[in-house]
Amino acid sequence: MSNKKTAMVGTPCQILAATKINRYEEKTGGSPIDVKIGLFCMENFSYQYLKRYLKSRDIELFEVKEFRIEKGQFVAYLIDGNVFKIPIAETEPFTRKNCHICTDYTSDVSDISVGSVGSPKYHSTVIVRSQKGKQIIDACIAEGYIEAEAISRKGQDLLEKIANQKISKNTRIYKKREAIGRPVLSKRQISEEEFYDECGKCQFDNLQNDVISVGSCVLCGACEYVCPIDAVQINNRKPVSVKECEEDCHACYFACPRTFISDAIYPEGIDEQPLGEYLEIYSVKADSIMGQDGGVVSAILVYLLENNIVDEVSVVGEDKDAPWRPESYLTSKIQDVIKAAGTKYSTTTIGFKALTNKK
Ligand SMILES: Cc1cc2nc3c(=O)[nH]c(=O)nc-3n(C[C@H](O)[C@H](O)[C@H](O)COP(=O)(O)OP(=O)(O)OC[C@H]3O[C@@H](n4cnc5c(N)ncnc54)[C@H](O)[C@@H]3O)c2cc1C
Ligand code: SF4
Ligand code: SF4
Ligand code: SF4
Repeated sequence: MSNKKTAMVGTPCQILAATKINRYEEKTGGSPIDVKIGLFCMENFSYQYLKRYLKSRDIELFEVKEFRIEKGQFVAYLIDGNVFKIPIAETEPFTRKNCHICTDYTSDVSDISVGSVGSPKYHSTVIVRSQKGKQIIDACIAEGYIEAEAISRKGQDLLEKIANQKISKNTRIYKKREAIGRPVLSKRQISEEEFYDECGKCQFDNLQNDVISVGSCVLCGACEYVCPIDAVQINNRKPVSVKECEEDCHACYFACPRTFISDAIYPEGIDEQPLGEYLEIYSVKADSIMGQDGGVVSAILVYLLENNIVDEVSVVGEDKDAPWRPESYLTSKIQDVIKAAGTKYSTTTIGFKALTNKK
């Protein structure tokens, strides 16, 4: 494993996997991830299905300049100036179904969470959660990387309302799944002692049965990353085992964000706190960067690199041969961070891919 300190940007499920990997380091081997920047996330979309859907509406992905989620609509701004929009409720044909058991909207276990909801256009909403996150945001403000003001009451109410909508809609779905014998282990919160006991019995076969076969895998790539003997491989569709497991190894089961979660990670009753636990919430913009919203994620990453707080950052750019197809990479170059700004609203195996490739 690289000794370099890394900042990771990711969706709540990816940030949860990073948290588990580091907390259960003695089982998983740990990671260099030192700063976790979580994005808000209602759901993600399948790249193939998004591409196919747009094609059925006579739009090719290379014609799209920008995707945005605005006022309940999924919007594609085209290079020729046309705009294609559909209500979010009609994105079902390309929504990733495995997202529908997820109740974390604002990346509750990150150091800093960032999204658009709650702030004016071209601003980002920033939730500061840990002391480390607070030091970073305070320094970014003091050194002029970002401009921040307290979120408005109206903005926070809207954010809480949307987070609660995700919790209640997806709680209904995961309860239905449990009722028909498709376990949703990540929602069965247990004590730390029980967690060690349960995960300590499990290997890849169990991950296959408890997560992958029941439609819970979110393709974060944590299982592939932590496997000490490279027994897991992920293609674009799912993790597969390519060799027999090492005796007494349970790393993938400990790391996976869709196996059990101990109450040491998500305190009991977290679903009653729509924004999780936090210290401060701001509306923020970074004038120097053209990002998805306020350019704030990229500005924070630039601050971290320029001040040697981390050595590398993991960002999600685009596959050079396929427009809008997300591709993750590690970099220490400011120009790479700026190039990766903007949201790619789809998924492939992006979460830990960059770290796995570097292992
Ligand atoms: C799948 C997805 C769903 C989202 N849903 C919501 C939502 O419902 N409500 C909301 O308010 N905000 C949502 N966001 C977050 C929002 O789109 C912006 O990413 C956020 O507001 C930060 O904007 P910014 O201008 O500060 O970041 P920027 O400076 O533009 O930086 C964006 C960062 O996001 C990373 N990134 C881009 N695509 C992905 C990806 N697919 N997976 C992981 N990282 C990626 C890039 O590496 C870059 O570092 C979502 C993001 C994603 C990836
Ligand atoms: S499981 Fe889906 S909805 Fe949940 S954080 Fe991951 S990408 Fe977002
Ligand atoms: S050896 Fe088996 S149990 Fe251990 S991480 Fe690899 S796949 Fe999982
Ligand atoms: S099975 Fe692997 S890729 Fe899927 S959610 Fe679990 S750790 Fe992530």
